[in-house]
Amino acid sequence: MISADTSIRFLKGVGESRAKTLQEHGLSTAGDLLWFFPFRYEDRRHPTRIADLGHHLDEPVLVRGRVISAHSRVSPRKRMKIFEAVLEDESGGVKLVWFNQPFLSDQIKRNDRLAVFGAPKFSSYSHLQIEGPDWEKFEGDEEAEGAIVPIYSKIGNIPPKALRRIVAQSLEALPALDDPLPEEIRSALHVGALGPAIEQLHRPQELSDEFLWRRSPAHRRIILQEFFTFQLALRVRRATEEVKQKSRKIRIDDAIRGEVRKILPFKLTRAQKRVLKEIAGDLQNARPMYRLLQGDVGSGKTIVALIAAMIAIRNGHQVALLAPTEILVEQHFQRISQLLDHSVVLAKSTGSATLSERRTLVAGLRDGYIQMVVGTHALLEEKIAFKSLGLAIVDEQHRFGVEQRQKLFAKGDTPDILVMTATPIPRSLALAMYGDLELSVIDELPPGRQAIRTALRASTQLERIYKFLDEEIRAKAQVYVVYPIIEESEKLNLKPLKQGFEAIRKRFPDRQIAMLHGRMSAADKEATMQRFKAGEIDMLVSTTVIEVGIDVPNASIMMIMDADRFGLSQLHQLRGRVGRGERKSYCILVSDKEKERLDLFAETRDGFEVAERDLQLRGPGEFLGTRQSGALRFRMGNIVRDHELMERARDTAIDVIDRDGVTRAEEIVRRLLGAEIAAARD
Ligand code: ADP
Ligand code: MG
Repeated sequence: MISADTSIRFLKGVGESRAKTLQEHGLSTAGDLLWFFPFRYEDRRHPTRIADLGHHLDEPVLVRGRVISAHSRVSPRKRMKIFEAVLEDESGGVKLVWFNQPFLSDQIKRNDRLAVFGAPKFSSYSHLQIEGPDWEKFEGDEEAEGAIVPIYSKIGNIPPKALRRIVAQSLEALPALDDPLPEEIRSALHVGALGPAIEQLHRPQELSDEFLWRRSPAHRRIILQEFFTFQLALRVRRATEEVKQKSRKIRIDDAIRGEVRKILPFKLTRAQKRVLKEIAGDLQNARPMYRLLQGDVGSGKTIVALIAAMIAIRNGHQVALLAPTEILVEQHFQRISQLLDHSVVLAKSTGSATLSERRTLVAGLRDGYIQMVVGTHALLEEKIAFKSLGLAIVDEQHRFGVEQRQKLFAKGDTPDILVMTATPIPRSLALAMYGDLELSVIDELPPGRQAIRTALRASTQLERIYKFLDEEIRAKAQVYVVYPIIEESEKLNLKPLKQGFEAIRKRFPDRQIAMLHGRMSAADKEATMQRFKAGEIDMLVSTTVIEVGIDVPNASIMMIMDADRFGLSQLHQLRGRVGRGERKSYCILVSDKEKERLDLFAETRDGFEVAERDLQLRGPGEFLGTRQSGALRFRMGNIVRDHELMERARDTAIDVIDRDGVTRAEEIVRRLLGAEIAAARD
């Protein structure tokens, strides 16, 4: 009897060496194998007649026949090793071609009976052939003779057929398999039992479209189990943390309200008011706030954060605001000092502070004299400790890793946490990443914003663009020119930027041109930004340092060189630097590649839509930067495609905790994680 716990050593076809290989891939028991799903299927029930291949051009089909000739040769031009065989069935023959697989000459011989799976196409000599097909000999092999065959990803050098037989044995464990999801949760998730779902996935009876698109009830069962496990685990963790209630009590009285009103330089938008209400509610709650504030670039998140800060400070606590770049810290620092007008003791913390500045800062934060600090990751150093950190704010949170954020939060005793992002994370992804985070969205821009005209131009049109810039600058506009040099990369190659800068200087001899990049000293960067803000610089030639958060209302043109080298969300960030003032604004993309993608961007105004498309084009790993993608790798679920399942999983997880309590939920999580140990291992 095989059960889920049975070691793979007891399966037929698994000797010592295969056992070792399987274990290296996280497959130790029959239960692990059950969760090792095929990544595709081949329908080998209906071979195509070779004479009919012409009707199936470029479409993978199954062909069965006998090899009537086989030989290797070297292509005269490219010196590539080519192995060719001719396969014949009762209707005719077709050439099979494999490139750079010379070892095939030992494996495929004349008279072998083969099943091959591949897409027929015309060779350059107009012969029909199949290049690089999957193949299998099927003499006496009923499996290859006519079934739907599951295809598993390769495990070491175990031949596919042997691997299939090994996995097939694990299915014997199904009748006795425990379902980690209790009946009532299954029905809340609208899924069936686990055993039949697993069986379906390894041994489907039919390949319906629904099945091939991973939308069948069996797929949903697995995806929802993964998502639900993730959501419930997050919620349980959060709930157990919340048992620690806030040690402080935050109150909002008329004095605070009055003071807030006094610092407001403008009327808040409806969206800002709504979000502020949510935040104020959290702050007054006995549990710590954990909220993601998202809003398109320029939607006005800073003022909302500042009001939250005022509330914490007037209740006797300190506030830390973490931002990703020194320029951004400087900008926040200045804007906040202006708004607060000395009513709060404000400090900043950056890597370029002098030793004595640093000492003052450390002392001031420790004894509580400093009420609010704005800083880069320099703020995370161990030496920095607070007397009473009541509110931790992270701006442009996607620029920080999980550990960095945690480091900041750990500097307080259950501080309220507000993380902000101007990269509008699609709701589906926000849920997946932060199932335990509350979400506030500013979905409205302050009044008077100009629509930004986005245009795509080829590099041959540079001179025309420059003429346009010349006219605009004469009319007192300011221009950003951005080169695709990503500041985060280790090897920062500034050559293209410097060359671009020189070329532009030559082209615009009468204009004030300046350069900005991450390798400049903080003081130089700051001075340059100040001059640009003051209107003393006409054109700022820079890297992506200006991508996040910079606010210069008079700058109205964003010119992006080699725009194809940027992700859409990043382009949107850059575009968001203009259109902030009264002036008609432009975003000019210069590129000779990827016209379609960039056109799509030019048409899209809404940041959420851009982000959604970016996510679809690049996948979550790329979208978020690799650092954060690890937690999001699901075995079968895809957070873009299956986002509504993620929402269902989240709602169900919340219900379970509310109804059954944390202890019971924890029990369920433990059972679920037990079932998915294999998933966690790869
Ligand atoms: P982001 O959400 O991108 O961080 P900011 O907080 O930097 O946006 O705000 C962008 C600009 O809009 C700033 O110059 C800010 O002063 C201004 N702003 C914010 N809210 C309003 C408002 N309600 N009315 C007018 N201007 C506003
Ligand atoms: Mg901002």
